[in-house]
Amino acid sequence: MARYSGPVCRLCRREGAKLYLKGDRCYTGKCAIDKRGYAPGQHGQGRKKTSEYGIQLREKQKTRRIYGILETQFRNYFAKAERQKGITGENLLRLLERRLDNVVYRMGFAGSRAEARQMVRNGHFTVNGNKVNIPSFLTRVGNVIEVREKSRDNNRIVELVEQAARKTPPAWLEVSADQFSGKVVAIPSREEIDVPVVEHLIVELYSR
Ligand code: SF4
Repeated sequence: MARYSGPVCRLCRREGAKLYLKGDRCYTGKCAIDKRGYAPGQHGQGRKKTSEYGIQLREKQKTRRIYGILETQFRNYFAKAERQKGITGENLLRLLERRLDNVVYRMGFAGSRAEARQMVRNGHFTVNGNKVNIPSFLTRVGNVIEVREKSRDNNRIVELVEQAARKTPPAWLEVSADQFSGKVVAIPSREEIDVPVVEHLIVELYSR
């Protein structure tokens, strides 16, 4: 699946919010939002679009960019969320959270979702003992995610796992950093998904 490969800080500036797409750099003074907190491009500092459609569109784009997903795939997630019982917007976020790349990031085994995606693609992880290199793999309750045996002396992974040991994962995940592993113990509730998104705006956008 193709993905956006342009400058990522530009995406934050477009949304006018920190989307934390670059890992550690996002927490330093080098963050582009801190330095130039206006939209990119020639008219970035001009009039802001405030129509209802514009607001809904921005919320959808922001969500896509946080999770690093292209439009078609995002639409597919939305269609799936609509078919599920419950509130569509929350179902959508839960589906996005359960992606393997996001779970690896949430466990603290990657500095950003983009890095998690790359690490999954490079085959550094197993799910229930089987190598899985598909970032969109949808994890389930009970799935055990581990760093593969042969990747455990990779310098970057060792560094990340050491950092993960000092972090508190979300309540729906259990992490055993010393074992290079984690487990999905629940489906996340909306309160446990700390993304700055007003999901009902996305539902309204797609209901037009
Ligand atoms: Fe966004 Fe991080 Fe770049 Fe800041 S440093 S603009 S939060 S990706």
